[in-house]
Amino acid sequence: MMRSMGTTLHVKDAFLEVWADTLGSSGVIAAAIVICFTSWTWIDPGVAIAIGLWLLPRIWILLRDTTHILLQPVRAGIELDEVRAAINAVAAVVSTHDLHTWSMSENDISFTANVALVSGANANALRKAIGAMLAKDFEIEHVTIHCEAASCGQEALHP
Ligand SMILES: [Zn+2]
Repeated sequence: MMRSMGTTLHVKDAFLEVWADTLGSSGVIAAAIVICFTSWTWIDPGVAIAIGLWLLPRIWILLRDTTHILLQPVRAGIELDEVRAAINAVAAVVSTHDLHTWSMSENDISFTANVALVSGANANALRKAIGAMLAKDFEIEHVTIHCEAASCGQEALHP
């Protein structure tokens, strides 16, 4: 777990959970032993407060990263108009609409779009070409392209 720390938020979350549980149970045992020998009863809430203080900044970082992802669905640096222009520049593409990008983790960008093609175009080859271009030029790894041979009527509604 230590090694994969910093990769995804759910690993960070699981890591914190395991640490909190480990510290909590070993803290209780340690405090009980100390109280047995010394009668220092303040040690019990003391340990609880210390664990809480240790967790607090880590929870704050996790919350900050999660909020960042939720509030910023499009990673800074990705301009949808630039992506649209790049897709429209691919041969046999007529137009692109209903573009969406979002990220599930810091480095994982997903993208969907409807792409209208000239009639008779090879949709599979074009999906591949667009996917490769988006990965190379925009570092977008998860691409879902809906190819349209005729207008779907949603262009004005979802530009
Ligand atoms: Zn459409």
